[in-house]
Amino acid sequence: DKWVYDFSEGSKDMRELLGGKGANVAEMTRVLGADRVPAGFTITTEACVAYMKADQTEPEGMADEVAEALERLQEHTGKRLGDDDDPLLVSVRSGARESMPGMLDTVLNLGMNDRSVEGLAKATENDRFAWDSYRRFLQMFGNVSRGIDGEAFEQAIADVKADRGVEEDTDLDTDALKALVDRFKALYKEHTDEEFPQDPQEQLRLAIRAVFDSWTGDRAKEYRRINRIPDDWGTAVNVQQMVFGNKGDTSGSGVAFSRDEVTGAPEPSGDFLPNAQGEDVVSGARTPRDIAEMKEWLPDAYEQLMDILKTLEQHYGDMQDTEFTVEEGQLYMLQTRDAKRPAQAAVRFARDAVDEGLLEREQALMTVDAEMLTALLVKTFDPGANYEVIATGVPAAPGGAKGEVVFTARDAIDAAAEGRDVVLVRPDTNANDVGGFHAAKGILTSLGGKASHAALVARGMGVPCVTAASELKINLEDKCIRVGERTIGEGDFIAINGTNGEVTLDDVPLVDPTEDPAFDEILKAFETVLGWADDVRRLGVRTNADTPADARKARELGAEGIGLCRTEHMFMAEDRQPKMRRMIMSGTRDARKEALAELLPLQQEDFEGLFEAMKGLPVTIRLLDPPLHEFLPNLPDLAAHVERARIEVSADLDELETLLETTERISEENPMLGTRGCRLGILYPEIYEMQVHAIMRAAKAMDEPPHPEIMIPLVDYEHEIELMRELVVRIGDEEGLHEIEDYTVGTMIELPRACFVADRIAKFADFFSFGTNDLTQTALGFSRDDVESKFVPVYMERKIIERSPFETIDKPGVGWLVRLAAWVGRESRPDLKLGICGEHGGDPDSIEFFHMAGLDYVSCSPFRVPIARVAAAQAAI
Ligand code: ADP
Ligand code: MG
Ligand code: MG
Repeated sequence: DKWVYDFSEGSKDMRELLGGKGANVAEMTRVLGADRVPAGFTITTEACVAYMKADQTEPEGMADEVAEALERLQEHTGKRLGDDDDPLLVSVRSGARESMPGMLDTVLNLGMNDRSVEGLAKATENDRFAWDSYRRFLQMFGNVSRGIDGEAFEQAIADVKADRGVEEDTDLDTDALKALVDRFKALYKEHTDEEFPQDPQEQLRLAIRAVFDSWTGDRAKEYRRINRIPDDWGTAVNVQQMVFGNKGDTSGSGVAFSRDEVTGAPEPSGDFLPNAQGEDVVSGARTPRDIAEMKEWLPDAYEQLMDILKTLEQHYGDMQDTEFTVEEGQLYMLQTRDAKRPAQAAVRFARDAVDEGLLEREQALMTVDAEMLTALLVKTFDPGANYEVIATGVPAAPGGAKGEVVFTARDAIDAAAEGRDVVLVRPDTNANDVGGFHAAKGILTSLGGKASHAALVARGMGVPCVTAASELKINLEDKCIRVGERTIGEGDFIAINGTNGEVTLDDVPLVDPTEDPAFDEILKAFETVLGWADDVRRLGVRTNADTPADARKARELGAEGIGLCRTEHMFMAEDRQPKMRRMIMSGTRDARKEALAELLPLQQEDFEGLFEAMKGLPVTIRLLDPPLHEFLPNLPDLAAHVERARIEVSADLDELETLLETTERISEENPMLGTRGCRLGILYPEIYEMQVHAIMRAAKAMDEPPHPEIMIPLVDYEHEIELMRELVVRIGDEEGLHEIEDYTVGTMIELPRACFVADRIAKFADFFSFGTNDLTQTALGFSRDDVESKFVPVYMERKIIERSPFETIDKPGVGWLVRLAAWVGRESRPDLKLGICGEHGGDPDSIEFFHMAGLDYVSCSPFRVPIARVAAAQAAI
């Protein structure tokens, strides 16, 4: 095994082995030249995996390879680690296959010790810089490699500042820094019972171990869980010559994006800090300046940076997110990666990249994260609303959010569990807060900037976020925010606008972004990208909709028909419930028919509304599916009610007794596996007859004939569908409508048996629609209503499953059943139309699978229609 690669040996295609950072640093070295990228080497992710497997022991041969690579680096740079004359210093940087911002550890300025600090001072003729680097190293090394609390160091700095009567870190002189170094060493000793290691080789060994170990740290694990990054990837370690942004006024560090990372507008953006190392920019400790100001400060380096951003974007064919350092006017690139971006920037970039000739349409489509597109449909502040702005920060992730103020991730999670809307408010955030990001409607910080932790993470999640709202004085101890004269406490109302950075205490109405004129450019880009997706995709996209309003919304978003109309909702409405109840309670078939006759015109109206909304497009209507007791009161409640009525001898006691009796009679131990679906149709054909009459009469009432597809749920046996089909056709004949020509009859495939005998079932079905929710329940024997809150999280933690099978289709199991049914169904009936209407119809990963399985269309909830259009296109590319 080869455990170590020099940067000159790597490339961007080696990210699995070298991690994203290592692979891209290597790539940049080739593309931009060795002068632009400090030299170094990468210890592979495989080494990390081997280290973890062997209980924190470095694999055989790794130490030797590191020593050899270090020797080459020393030769290349002409400097040596720990030297008392112009010493080499290195950074030891983590870098996983996928970026995990701030979750893994990095140590800067390694190689500082009592000897090399003098060497550095001599070589740079800058005592202050040398001692500042030494104290930074002690601080980072102690924290990262020995777990000494960062607060302890901060406290020591505060003490020394107070001692010397200065305000800022940058005001500490050499003498003060020397004192600080002594204090830090004492801290190290106190916490570890060991002397701080002076030997740079030992420092390096410990730092590499610390980076490996950070992979298995709690916050990294939590981040991987949320972002679904496998635990067994491991991180690479990059050892790189240091360049210094803290050498004075012509030095600095920053982050730069090749385009605006929030709006996607085609101008570079970013933040920088003069006389600082990179950690200062991202930590939020100092407030960074806008990259545009760098033009005046260091015009040459600025121009070079702009050129490099262009070059990198061309080279990678995607928006880039970079880190750079300027050392005495000389620009160095330290990192580049494809930029994480909110949906608005994603569509804007995709469209512009094609316009600019940077990418082909198909390539551009692949740069869009389909799942994120909902953000374009999320609510924003009503543009017409008047509200008092109490603070303005950096608009870090778009969308409007409002709710009660909470100050900790824990409180956010607890409040969300109670169904309360909250905004998480903190001075800044770190990896430990990520759980709270999910629970909160929005994130607000007083520190940081565009690239701070809160901004990056919120953007990735599509949670609205405002950072750097510096007018807010946030006191975590007293749980309050002071702004001007006002004090805002925990539980008080707050609203944030992640699109423009505003904060208010007014209850601003949230609206659809489509109504915001500032959104025009983005919506245009969105339309264009969706249009390309439609050209490319093979899968049709329909919607699951039960009401004309939903159907219209979905149609606006591009739905090509209704793939599933559930009719049970039509019986739930208040004016229908008593009629429905009467029907269920009827003792005889005739009495039932009478009750149903009253429901018929209402149901016909429902269908007319749907046909109208979907004019010209197919509408699949599922006949009644749920067990009848769902339309009756909950049994224990009813029993208690009757008990009371008996004592009080209520007037309606008789009626209640009958209701109780019926409810008891029809309730079942396992209703999901009980009398439902076509079993109802077979036991009570009059219900389905009424529904079919209503559908057909509604069809006849339209000016333009619709395309109803009548769907029989929960079929197991071919004789079930045979009987139900006869029923439909008989009523069709009565209504003077003809099969195929005027309507079709199909079935839902949602039971494993149906998949196995799909060839037999297909003889009586014009179409199949896979009900993957029930199919997942019945194939896995998982109750959907129970598993998510009970064992599925544990199963994910224990790596039994990667994600919930109700979210992404279980490809080897349930997916195989789908493939089987599609295959044998088409074998017996080549023109069989195949669709899917479970929740999976809106999940990009599942959509890719359905594309490959050869289905004709997916059907999903209205708001996921754009996601499905893009995902279906991506599946076809
Ligand atoms: P993260 O993954 O948390 O961004 P990095 O390894 O990128 O960690 O390091 C964080 C910052 O440290 C970089 O953005 C850069 O500013 C600084 N840094 C890392 N390596 C070097 C180096 N060789 N020279 C100067 N600064 C460095
Ligand atoms: Mg970085
Ligand atoms: Mg079902």
